[in-house]
Amino acid sequence: MNSGKIPVAAVRRLTIHDGPGVRDTVFVKGCPLRCLWCHNPESISAAPRILFHEKLCTGCGACMRACPNGVHAFTPEGRHTLNREACRLCGACVRACLFNALEICGVKMSVEELFTKLVKDRDYFVPEGGVTLSGGEPALYPEFVSGLFRKLKEAGISTALDTCGAVDFEHYRMILPHTDLVLFDLKGMDPERHRRNTGRDNALIHENLRKIAAFGTSVEIRMPIVPGCNDFPDDIEKTGRLLAGIGTLKRVRLLAYHSLAGEKYAAAGLENTMPEAESPDAAALDRIADVLRSFLPPDVPVLHD
Ligand code: SF4
Ligand code: SF4
Repeated sequence: MNSGKIPVAAVRRLTIHDGPGVRDTVFVKGCPLRCLWCHNPESISAAPRILFHEKLCTGCGACMRACPNGVHAFTPEGRHTLNREACRLCGACVRACLFNALEICGVKMSVEELFTKLVKDRDYFVPEGGVTLSGGEPALYPEFVSGLFRKLKEAGISTALDTCGAVDFEHYRMILPHTDLVLFDLKGMDPERHRRNTGRDNALIHENLRKIAAFGTSVEIRMPIVPGCNDFPDDIEKTGRLLAGIGTLKRVRLLAYHSLAGEKYAAAGLENTMPEAESPDAAALDRIADVLRSFLPPDVPVLHD
């Protein structure tokens, strides 16, 4: 689809939450789903966007003076406002701000540029770490991802693809030969609830999960648990039945919902769609894990924090 440059939201170095071991994680921009609880809302659209971190802003006004398009203003009460529609992403305000309160999210990068950045951390990835591509949805860019993963593998670096599963399987067919592990996000089994929660039906997602396993690629399932959205007993049991048929399943990880990403919506100037829900407690996660374990072989762990 795109073999040139793709929009990158962030490169997070030396993480321990995006696959096994110590990893660098690349977050790309662009996603086919619209999950209500999205924790990376700045990555939903592929278009670059200016982010404003209000907590870091001192109100110095340097951005207002630097911007040629009048994007930044202050209310009489001193509140910093942005007219994002007028922003041309020139970066002048970002350069003028000494407090890191502004950034442009979605700088386009080439395979070569990303590889050069990632390979510097190679010594930290041993024994089982590596590079994870996440998002957004990296599988939207199959030529780019397969090209980057091929180079990483040639350099002896393990590769993982974090995917929502909602793209044509032909994209995965290009990427999987260079992928050691797929982190596959499962967000619910009931098609109607799934559509309400994510904007899309889940049939393609489940079909892709089965095809990825049939391809022979190792899979880690990642399940966000969002009370009142996807934690219903029938959903969990059906998930267990689906996972029982995934022969390359290595582990299942339950990701407890939390609303900490609220500030990210504000920084991107997007409507906060996150559900008003409490984080599930350890006992609730244990119950869900027990149900899933009852469908899985004993050597497939079901984990949660
Ligand atoms: S990126 Fe350029 S146009 Fe956009 S707000 Fe900053 S200075 Fe103004
Ligand atoms: S330059 Fe930075 S700190 Fe100063 S007003 Fe603008 S965003 Fe705030």
